[in-house]
Order: sequence, then C-alpha cells, then structure tokens
Amino acid sequence: MNYCPGCLKEGYKTYCNSCRNLLFGGKKVEHVLPFSRPDFDQDKLNHSEKLSISGIQIKHSLFLDGSKLKLCERDGTYILKPIPHGPFNNLEHVPANEHISMQIASQVFNINTASNAIIYFSDGQMAYITKRFDVAEDGTKLSQEDFAQIMQRSEPLNGKNYKYDSSYEDIAKYMRTYINAYPIEAEKFYKLVLYNYLISNGDAHLKNFSLYRNIEFGDYLLTPAYDILNTSLHVPGESDTALELFSGGYTTEAYKAGSKYTREDFYEFGLKVMNTTSPKRMEKILNEMLQNADKIKELVDKSFLPDELKKVYLDSIQIRRERMRR
Ligand SMILES: [Zn+2]
Repeated sequence: MNYCPGCLKEGYKTYCNSCRNLLFGGKKVEHVLPFSRPDFDQDKLNHSEKLSISGIQIKHSLFLDGSKLKLCERDGTYILKPIPHGPFNNLEHVPANEHISMQIASQVFNINTASNAIIYFSDGQMAYITKRFDVAEDGTKLSQEDFAQIMQRSEPLNGKNYKYDSSYEDIAKYMRTYINAYPIEAEKFYKLVLYNYLISNGDAHLKNFSLYRNIEFGDYLLTPAYDILNTSLHVPGESDTALELFSGGYTTEAYKAGSKYTREDFYEFGLKVMNTTSPKRMEKILNEMLQNADKIKELVDKSFLPDELKKVYLDSIQIRRERMRR
C-alpha cells in the first residue's frame, strides 16, 4: 500500500493534491529532493545547552524555485530537518516520529500545526520538511517571538537550563498579558500541553511555544504548533514534561502521592489556565484527549516508523492515557 508522504492518505505514490496545495501552493513538487544530504558543521550546534533532541536537530533553509526545492543560507520558506546525529537511540527515525506526531495533532485533535511532510534526499535518506508559518506568501516576515524571548530568558542571563526552568502556567500568565483574545488562545494552549503529555513529548520547552501578530487585526495569537515528537523513542528515562505544569513549585496532592501528573493535575491546571467558572468546557477538552485511540492507531500504522517503534509509540500513549484518566 502506498501512502501520501504528507497526510498518509492511501493510494498515493507522492504528495496528494491537498498536501501539494497546503505545502507548495499547488506546485508538483517531488517527494525526492534533487540533491543529497548537505554537509553540516556539527560544531554550529550549541553544545553548552542541556543535551536534548531539539539541541541536536539540524535545520536547513529551503525555498521553492518553480517546482524545485533548493537550499539557501537563510530566509527560506521551508525548514528541512534531516536525521540528527548524537548520543540518543533510534535517531534515524526522528523525521518519521516528528511527522506522525504532527499529523496526529492536526488530523485527530484538530490542533493548528505547521504544514509538514516526509521528504527524501536523492540518496534515499529520509528527512522532515515543514513550511514556515512566519513568512507570508509575499515573503514578508511576521513578527514572531518564542516564550524564552517573551520572558526575556537567555543562556547568559539564566544559565544553560534557561529554556527549561519555567512552567506551562508561566507561559499562560504571559499569554494573558499579551493576547486580547486570551480565552480562545488559552483553550488551544491547554490542548497543546495535554497533547504533548499524551504522546510523551518531554522536550516541549519555552522556545517551542510562540506568539505572532495577526496581520489583519494586529493582535498577538499563539502560532501553529511545531517541533513536536515522542521523545521517549529516543531518550528513555527523560523527565515526563520539559517544564513543570504549575508556577512556583506548586504541586497537587495527587502529584505528591505518586510523583506523576494525573487527571487531578491536568484538571487543576486547566482551571488555572482557562480561568473558567464552569469547568465543563475544560473537561471536554481533557476527555477528548483520552478518546480517539482507534484513529491514532490507524495513523501510526501508516506512518514511516518501523514496526517495533510503532508499538513503542502506541504503548507509550496508552500509559499516558491511563494516567490522565485516573
Ligand atoms: Zn496528502
């Protein structure tokens, strides 16, 4: 069976029409690049930071010339992420992992994500490609800031853990300050934090959440989700979340008893973030995250992960689902 390397629809040998429209403005771009993997100086990566998957991922800039993707130094409209090298496990499957994690987010949970697909170098090596959402069709760059920038946290000021020494509640507090349409964006943020937990993304740090300015209205909004993957496939024993859920070292009674986030934590976190007097809406989002097991399995089965990692991926979700249910 052949699947579209973008949305995993059945019966395609290359990108389906809707993926072509979404990613390439309808152009007939091949799912094999006309060049092999570029050389990259690993020393360009910042080695002083805490060791993490995002820290070893190389990003190349691409632009579309006619229907051909070409490399450029900077300011491209696409980001290409080849297989990373480093001390972690199963790294050759990082592109497939990021792709399926982003596809489940958008197809199963309706999370607004950066458009993405699997693509191959001319020598057959797999990579992950994503379209930049901060560059408008006419090439103008939208004003975007991640939460390390918004909170003015940096390595020189806050040390090498600057992206991790914070909480999701802190992010929500800053969102409240900057976003006029906060209640709507707060729901999206809550869902995204739950999703990262569900799929064992232990690397959703401050730089993996951003705000950008809506050109039409001038208001700040949460950007589409990006850089999401199940890090447990590569870094077993990593902490369950990159950031604490709550500010100021607060923990719930349930957490104190079991040292794991469970339903009580996500319930209380939802109340704080969504600031709701009627918790129904928040509970609906939480419950939705625990459903759709069949849809997730169907997509994971069609993914580019090898069979043994498909199983690990699905098992890890089952473990998290149980915890979020209790
Ligand atoms: Zn497709």
